[in-house]
Amino acid sequence: MTEIIEAQHLKNELKTLLTCTYCGFCKSVCPVFEGIGWDPSVARGRMILSYGLLQKEIPADQSVIESLFQCTTCKDCERRCPSSIEVVEVVESARKDLVANGFILPQHSKIINNIISLGNPYGERDRVIDRFGMRPRNAELGYFIGCTSAYRNVNSAKATLSILKKLGADFTLLDEVCCGSVMQRIGWKEEDLISLMEKNVKAIESVGVDEVVFSCAGCYRMFKEEYPKFVDINFKVKHISEYLADRDLKLKPLKKKVTYHDPCHLGRHCGIYEPPRKVLQMIPDLVYNEMQRNKETARCCGGGGGVRSAFPDLSAKIAARRVDEAEFADFLVTTCPFCVNNLRLGKESNGAKVEVIDLVEFIDPLLTG
Ligand code: SF4
Ligand code: SF4
Repeated sequence: MTEIIEAQHLKNELKTLLTCTYCGFCKSVCPVFEGIGWDPSVARGRMILSYGLLQKEIPADQSVIESLFQCTTCKDCERRCPSSIEVVEVVESARKDLVANGFILPQHSKIINNIISLGNPYGERDRVIDRFGMRPRNAELGYFIGCTSAYRNVNSAKATLSILKKLGADFTLLDEVCCGSVMQRIGWKEEDLISLMEKNVKAIESVGVDEVVFSCAGCYRMFKEEYPKFVDINFKVKHISEYLADRDLKLKPLKKKVTYHDPCHLGRHCGIYEPPRKVLQMIPDLVYNEMQRNKETARCCGGGGGVRSAFPDLSAKIAARRVDEAEFADFLVTTCPFCVNNLRLGKESNGAKVEVIDLVEFIDPLLTG
């Protein structure tokens, strides 16, 4: 199928599209361009293609669709852009237009069907709340597990639960559904996204918590940045690294070399850089060093924006480059189960020795109270 489309969402991006000077500075940082080396795979190319779609100058052919769905939404180009172009906004608007015109990738279509019918992207039939032997109850703190920790990286959910228990937190699990991150990233319609948001907010409000903690960077960003645009939020939102950094943790010593990967959703999108580092530096004897690209300049793991499901080889190549940067360390710690999975794929593909681990799994066995 190849056709000229009605680009309703890109109409709102016209000023941005006309502001891009096509200077190409974004080429120096884009993780996708680094592997492909072809202009449509970088922000500049995506701006040109989006403008072409909007002006009905180019059809939505396979190459255009591929280019616009290969962006990991990592935001690194925005940091580098001298014209402050909001590239991710443009890419996500273009995706909304493509999807609204029937151009959805088959892998994304399956994910959307799973979320709408089962409440999670993985097609699992049981609810998150049924997996951990705890029922929702009134408490001060809610723990939003997130689909990846609930259904794939269960050790990360178990470690978070163990930490909260050791710290004596008055917490509850929530009758949660998918936070909507992947749905929004791949351009699905807002009506279904808002329905997920409303279900989650209702479940959280029903247990009267003051604050909700998240161990997934993607879920955290949704509640921190995106939910308030669509629904009222009457509770505080914290990433588990912020929650832990505020406490005087009693941790056993560990003589290991450690570095930290900033998930794009937590770092560049939400500006959370110091809390995970503070937590790691509370561990006696630990030797902490940064990778060459860290904090605002951190390289993307390659897993976000729906890229991992639709373009797994590209995603693994990007992850392998990130893991290479951490080879001086014994542990590459991060704070997102999705990054953990993708970085592990990168490690498998390049035979790296560094162990990839989620912060909560790293901290839990060391935490004495
Ligand atoms: S997005 Fe920014 S850095 Fe990239 S070509 Fe446009 S103006 Fe230049
Ligand atoms: S958001 Fe990331 S992947 Fe997308 S164009 Fe910018 S640098 Fe490349």
